[in-house]
Amino acid sequence: MPECSILSIGRELMLGFTVDTNAAWLATEISGLGYQMRNIRLIDDNGDDIVNAIKELTLKSDLLIITGGLGPTPDDLTREAIAEAADDELAYHPELFEKIEARFVQIGITISESNKKQAYLPESGRGLNNTCGTAPGVFCLINDCRVYAMPGVPREMKEMFRLSIVPELLEEGKGQVRAMKRLQLCGMGESRVGEVIKEINAECPKCEIGTTVHTGVITVRTMAYADSLAEAENIVNPATDKLRERFEDNVYGEEGVGLSEVIVKLLGDRGQKLSLAESCTGGLIAADIVSVAGASEVLIEGVVSYANQAKQNRLGVNEKTLINYGAVSQETVIEMARGSREFSKSDYAIAISGIAGPGGGSEEKPVGTTWIALDCEDGTYTLKKNLFYNREGNRRLGVNYSLDLLRRVINNQKLPEGVQLCQGVMQ
Ligand code: AMP
Ligand code: MG
Repeated sequence: MPECSILSIGRELMLGFTVDTNAAWLATEISGLGYQMRNIRLIDDNGDDIVNAIKELTLKSDLLIITGGLGPTPDDLTREAIAEAADDELAYHPELFEKIEARFVQIGITISESNKKQAYLPESGRGLNNTCGTAPGVFCLINDCRVYAMPGVPREMKEMFRLSIVPELLEEGKGQVRAMKRLQLCGMGESRVGEVIKEINAECPKCEIGTTVHTGVITVRTMAYADSLAEAENIVNPATDKLRERFEDNVYGEEGVGLSEVIVKLLGDRGQKLSLAESCTGGLIAADIVSVAGASEVLIEGVVSYANQAKQNRLGVNEKTLINYGAVSQETVIEMARGSREFSKSDYAIAISGIAGPGGGSEEKPVGTTWIALDCEDGTYTLKKNLFYNREGNRRLGVNYSLDLLRRVINNQKLPEGVQLCQGVMQ
């Protein structure tokens, strides 16, 4: 496979004020076009550093994509550095300047002398059209490596990449095509997922199977490269089918779908309603559900019942329950969920109460102790989790485990270990 390197240029990136999202975006796009990613490098607005990096990376790669440093200010040095690395002079292109000028007229800003700089290109290079900004991109061949430089502004970069660079890369025809499938899992341990992947990879050695983990959700990515998409899919699809079968009910969706999207669809299809009683998540479950279009069809209300009196006043939790068992207890979340379903007349009510941390833990109930209840026609399902992230992470885990429990109950699927179904009064 041909190899690609990415060079991100800018002092703001180097100091961490701006996150290098360009490289991440470009890497996923370019690897999808059949390039092996070789290097991703980040450097300062320093002329010598840029020249050296271009020289080094062009020797190592078939394709070098640069972003940043094409603006009109003195710290924008990419154009000059490309010319120097190519052992070339910069030449003025009046037709480029006309385009830049036209762009300024269009946006109603007076062009300044410094913008003239952007109409210079290395003699052996050519410009790349910028459809949503002023700085043209630059193409140049250095050490037999195709070098494309684009502005750093993500919006301009993405459009230039799609419109001016992708067609050229496809025409080059060097790259193979990638097929990719993603499965989303919740409720399965990472190590168990890893074991399954290892077994399936042994059966399907032509595909690359990888994972990413994000607060309880595991994404399993299966990829293969081939000369045609159909050929690549013929490798990826059977492997994905095998994985799906092995992961059973832990698969909640595919291709990046969120748990909340799955829930809104499941409830919407059934014409069923949801209500929420949130303590430690403080409305995060509601926010997640509401982020999905169509939420109004399924969500009745969410109560952020943070203090004990709110649990009593809004949800009808018994004072004695709170005194005897505490706010973070099976007994309390059962009453919260039942109260929520009763008051809102929903089909499903989720309640959650936990110790998100960093303070508030005890020997009996350490930080992370979280109780989830789901009240519905069957009775009240409860689940205790011992969460292990920081405050923010624990709250997100709480959201995901709650929604995953609801999904499994709606689908009549295997429930997570430790789930109890309580009918009638708790003893
Ligand atoms: P430049 O093209 O170097 O003038 O960069 C213009 C602006 O684009 C910078 O001020 C940043 O806000 C943004 N930017 C530049 N490079 C990146 C990058 N690699 N990732 C995300 N944003 C960037
Ligand atoms: Mg810059």
